Amino acid sequence: MHPVAMVDYYMEGKKTETWDKVTNSRIALLHPKIRQIAVNFINEVEKEFGIQLRVTTGLRTIEEQNRLYEQGRTTSGNIVTWVKGGYSYHNYGLAIDVIEMKNNNVNWDESVLKKISPVGIRNGFSWGGDWEKQKDYPHFEITFGYKASELLKKHNEGELDNEGYIIFN
Ligand SMILES: [Zn+2]
Repeated sequence: MHPVAMVDYYMEGKKTETWDKVTNSRIALLHPKIRQIAVNFINEVEKEFGIQLRVTTGLRTIEEQNRLYEQGRTTSGNIVTWVKGGYSYHNYGLAIDVIEMKNNNVNWDESVLKKISPVGIRNGFSWGGDWEKQKDYPHFEITFGYKASELLKKHNEGELDNEGYIIFN
């Protein structure tokens, strides 16, 4: 089955929200094709491990990404990203960063992310912890088989829906 068709296939009969309002509001801004997948991921992790994940970053616009890229380079602060605007799947609402919330606090323990990563992968995400260089444990993305540069081309050529999300055929 084509990855895009697969997404619709998995959607039936699933809860449409997670335990966390903050997470729900961030998921609502993801690409429409991955919103339900992100909800399923968070809910399955809670059900299987009793771990409550929060989405800390979802959609980050190309403009926001460029501003972030300048941080630590031409503006003050530490370097926080290696990629310019258009080259992160966050820029298309196709990536999330997650962290465990425990008693209203963030649990930074990486082992939690290693433990829950198979649930994300099973739901169709690629995991930043599997990257060869600069591992990014909180990061999960769905590429639909497109490189970021190909998405940027689609974006620049205006292959976008009314809300500015890339149209996948
Ligand atoms: Zn990320």
